[in-house]
Amino acid sequence: MVLSDLGRRINAAVSNLNREPNLDEKAFDAMIKEICSALLSADVNVRLVKTLRKSIQSTVNFKDLPPQTSSNSKKRLIQQAVFDHLVQLVDPHAEPYKPKKGRPNVIMFVGLQGAGKTTSCTKLARYYAQRGFKACLVCADTFRAGAYDQLKQNATKAKIPYYGSLTQTDPAVVAAEGVARFKKEKFEIIIVDTSGRHRQEADLFAEMVQVQKAIKPDQTIMVLDGTIGQAAEAQSSAFKQAADFGAIIITKTDGGAAGGGAISAVAATHTPIIFLGTGEHMMDLERFAPKPFISKLLG
Ligand code: GDP
Repeated sequence: MVLSDLGRRINAAVSNLNREPNLDEKAFDAMIKEICSALLSADVNVRLVKTLRKSIQSTVNFKDLPPQTSSNSKKRLIQQAVFDHLVQLVDPHAEPYKPKKGRPNVIMFVGLQGAGKTTSCTKLARYYAQRGFKACLVCADTFRAGAYDQLKQNATKAKIPYYGSLTQTDPAVVAAEGVARFKKEKFEIIIVDTSGRHRQEADLFAEMVQVQKAIKPDQTIMVLDGTIGQAAEAQSSAFKQAADFGAIIITKTDGGAAGGGAISAVAATHTPIIFLGTGEHMMDLERFAPKPFISKLLG
């Protein structure tokens, strides 16, 4: 189920209350049930949905509402509670790192191969370049043949300076060299792309830690494929443990992404989503903020 379907179903569940001549607890429970089933089919984690259900039920406590409360007031109360609780789901109450001008801001990307890391690195570099930052890219993926070429191609298209090596095999060394060079050249946004695959998952995580130690990033961003559904929670938790990232970019939210996985990843890691990838092109990057996101979702 895609995100817009989720919004439609939640909206329909709330609007159904309009048709109830006598808005009672039974109708309210039916609505919550429908909202929860919509969230579950959008791959939101079962535990989260249960918590949401309980907290909406306790916010709108039917038994405690004065008997003279009009159906309209009840409905407004319910709509507000649903909105607030959905916002809570995607809002970890953590402030993401904000790059500052006039100093180097080192941003390291992590994530599984195919998640959209390299694409998102370029999008983000371009995003900052457009906002007056001196931005550049470093390719620290020495594992996958072709990784450097791909970054080079993307960077050239976006007119972003880049650094990489075809001969150096130690990713921590390439990363450190690139960051040092760009710091010297007074770059303000230095984005480091890392490998997303290894022979063993443990090797991938060990490499991430080495690169992190070598460049001491101001921010580590995890790139998560928005289409992976329920697997998002376990994947983001594993990455969080290995390389404590401070922000998430969800990619492929165009197309058929259910979106629930993304919501579950935020909840599992208490880490804010900062951007959404909305297509394959360089411009397809949207800032993410919980309230506008849920407003848009609910139409
Ligand atoms: P990496 O292995 O994590 O570096 O992933 P890539 O950046 O190479 O991306 C993998 C594939 O996903 C490529 O075909 C990208 O064009 C595609 N991709 C990345 N981000 C998005 C997005 O937001 N939307 C869509 N539709 N495709 C994307």
